[in-house]
Amino acid sequence: MTDRTVIVGGGITGLAAAHELHTQGREFVVLEADPRAGGKIAGGPMAGVAFDVDMAADGFLAREPEMTDLCVELGLGDSLTSPRPGGAFLWVDGALRRIPPGVLGAPLDPDVVADAGIVSDAGVAALRAALAADLPALDGDATVGEVLRPRVGDEVFERMVDPLLGGINAGNADEMSIRTGAAALANAASKGGPFIDALRTHVAAATPGPVFHGIEGGSQRIIDALTYEIGDRLHVGEAVFDIEPTGGSWTVRTDDAAYDADRVILTTPGWISASLLAPYAPEAAAVLAGLQYSDAVLVTFVAQRDQLGHELDGAGFLVPRGQDLLMTATSVSSYKWAHYDDGEHVVLRVSAGRTDDRRWVDMPIDDVVTHLRSELEITIGLTGDVTHRVSEWPRCLPQYRAGHLDRCDQIDEWLARDTPGITVAGASMRGLGLPACVRQGRSAASR
Ligand SMILES: Cc1cc2nc3c(=O)[nH]c(=O)nc-3n(C[C@H](O)[C@H](O)[C@H](O)COP(=O)(O)OP(=O)(O)OC[C@H]3O[C@@H](n4cnc5c(N)ncnc54)[C@H](O)[C@@H]3O)c2cc1C
Repeated sequence: MTDRTVIVGGGITGLAAAHELHTQGREFVVLEADPRAGGKIAGGPMAGVAFDVDMAADGFLAREPEMTDLCVELGLGDSLTSPRPGGAFLWVDGALRRIPPGVLGAPLDPDVVADAGIVSDAGVAALRAALAADLPALDGDATVGEVLRPRVGDEVFERMVDPLLGGINAGNADEMSIRTGAAALANAASKGGPFIDALRTHVAAATPGPVFHGIEGGSQRIIDALTYEIGDRLHVGEAVFDIEPTGGSWTVRTDDAAYDADRVILTTPGWISASLLAPYAPEAAAVLAGLQYSDAVLVTFVAQRDQLGHELDGAGFLVPRGQDLLMTATSVSSYKWAHYDDGEHVVLRVSAGRTDDRRWVDMPIDDVVTHLRSELEITIGLTGDVTHRVSEWPRCLPQYRAGHLDRCDQIDEWLARDTPGITVAGASMRGLGLPACVRQGRSAASR
């Protein structure tokens, strides 16, 4: 009995699982296909500024404690930081409009929505009626659209809820599982009665303190701390292509080596986990293979402050569908995070791509950059020369459909029956946010 765990995939889920096993003094190895670990957490130097800039995830929910706790355990507690206050904007009908307070885009006060000029008078009236309607409690799962359209009205849903959730997930809120993709809204809708009461109760019950955390110096520091701790138990450049049963345990094969394992934790994207499981757990593999992923691109621009024609006192802006832009969101990182603010430059992280908008994939990447650059001129009056860096993320964000969490439970049952010792964790399963990935990685390791 080797009592060894092989972790497949060295993204945050796999590294969090490794951290847990390290803490417990257990034997393990992490096999990562890429030359570097970290998966969708990456960052590094960028032309135009003297500090590192994140290429994907730059922050995480503070109210789900797992990622914050991990940072503290890694000795990064003193580097935890929070976005500056100021909220964010929506680009609607040719102007930036401040997003009214709410829960995941669902507003708390129709008067503030009316003043913001985000929806028409009819949209405000529909919001008023919908928030006050006495609707039955949500039971089980449904799409965000099915639950929210009757509770906030179509216009508010399309201009406020979908841009936020669609922006976070590169998805479409009309197709997204509310339980997996917007748990706070699902919990509010589960109360029944007027939705406005449930939203206000949710806000009143929220733990005081910051909503988001980041790490001074960028998220890559979390990966650096984890890889340092794991040391030579992390094997990069080793893609797993086969897992086969050997007696009561498993043999995990890469091009270069074979590893005996009593337990295997798969933290790879859904279609990779599916291909590894298919010979032994075909039902679980079929569900994982069916998970749709969207493609996103993040172009980071750096300019001098005086090149901006807009006094942007907010973390950035979201772009609803139908506004004739390629971009889905722009994060003003130099406003949002103090560690991106050198007093001289503005750092803008511009995203494009949604599950139902793959225009950028079909364009030469230089055209994508030119397009997004010109849209910054339209939206925030950016002029003059800029430096830029492109981070392409094909098939990066899983799209959870209604019933997703039940399917995860079913996958766990099939795996326990068909491939005892193998667990699937990470963004393909119970949530793609960093706290959810850390929770899953550590829990898979503990089991
Ligand atoms: C542009 C962008 C911005 C984001 N911003 C945020 C944010 O601000 N906050 C937030 O909470 N979340 C954010 N997310 C989501 C979050 O970063 C991811 O959901 C999360 O990092 C996924 O972690 P993971 O370990 O489950 O998967 P991944 O990071 O995908 O890791 C899986 C790993 O498996 C490896 N692998 C693949 N095939 C094999 C194989 N055959 N053998 C071995 N290894 C293999 C991959 O190389 C990869 O390293 C963002 C995502 C993107 C794309």
